[in-house]
Amino acid sequence: MAKIKLTTDDKNAMPISMHKIIHRLALVLLICVTPFSIANFVQGDFLVGGLIFIICCCIFYISFNMNSQRQYKGNIAFFVLMPIAYFLMYNLLVDRGIIGILWCFPTLVVVNFIMQQRQALISNTLLIVILSPEILSQFDPSFALRIYGTLITVGALSSLFVNVIMDQQNKLHKLAITDPLTGLLNRLTLEEHISLAIEQHNRTVTPMTLASIDIDHFKLINDQHGHDVGDKVLIKIAELLETRTRNVDKVYRLGGEEFLIVLFNANLQNARAFANNVQQELSKLDFEYDITPTLSIGLAEVDKEKTWEEWLKHADENLYQAKESGRNQVIS
Ligand code: GH3
Ligand code: MG
Ligand code: MG
Repeated sequence: MAKIKLTTDDKNAMPISMHKIIHRLALVLLICVTPFSIANFVQGDFLVGGLIFIICCCIFYISFNMNSQRQYKGNIAFFVLMPIAYFLMYNLLVDRGIIGILWCFPTLVVVNFIMQQRQALISNTLLIVILSPEILSQFDPSFALRIYGTLITVGALSSLFVNVIMDQQNKLHKLAITDPLTGLLNRLTLEEHISLAIEQHNRTVTPMTLASIDIDHFKLINDQHGHDVGDKVLIKIAELLETRTRNVDKVYRLGGEEFLIVLFNANLQNARAFANNVQQELSKLDFEYDITPTLSIGLAEVDKEKTWEEWLKHADENLYQAKESGRNQVIS
């Protein structure tokens, strides 16, 4: 099965539903924690009240950015939120004893949700290390041991829980955007990628070309050799398209025997060379029953005056022309 190219290569990328989970978690935190900030201000403890208030602002900022701009501000969580929260925990432990420990439990859980796995592990280990001198001096050894045991258990369980969710979400996301037969992308991310290509072109004047591809007389292959053989032809052609494109390019199976490729940083000349090469490589492939499938290809270079739908239509019109001109052609 052809290799799957995901929607984005951004290392901070996380599944959309994970964004939702974190957004809701932030809401719950804001509702539960804000009253403690107010209570501390009222009691005249401005340091603790202020620290809790800053933590609420950071959580709101991270959640707002994630929800509205689909951006995850992981560094703010690691470099700003975490030191403030840990300073607060330390203060609470020194001033109020066990109350400081109680707040460590939700902190360990939240850290696992809002940071990447490695950062979360570092943060949670640091929290326990920072609080250790106070824990050991305030509590007798057997109670201190139980504090460590419960803190580590909550930290480990929440980490496990988040990883299971992330893993499931990634699998679901892959399934949702992938065509099950060929492993190529399906239509779901088409608009997103074409719009991205137009945006990049407008910003950097990078040429972008669409290649609309259709297998010629595919119905005949099905009719003569059966649907299973037709499927194998589709898989083999999908693999060819996938291996002939670069990582930045996006290869779709739009349905049936139709494919679309978004060729990033490719003008018409580059795209024509690519299309001719694909046709040549296809003619060299061995198929069952000596089937010799051919491809009709319509190319269209991005034009900033056009919408993404018009750009796509242009490529389809050229594909239609390729069919009209006798098939196994490249028209641009
Ligand atoms: P043209 O050269 O004009 O494109 O002719 P064609 O026969 O390729 O096009 P047509 O649209 O007439 O037929 C497409 C066929 O593709 C019909 C349909 O049964 C077949 N098809 C669609 N999806 C699949 C699939 O997943 N597997 C197989 N084996 N066949 C499929
Ligand atoms: Mg066809
Ligand atoms: Mg067709």
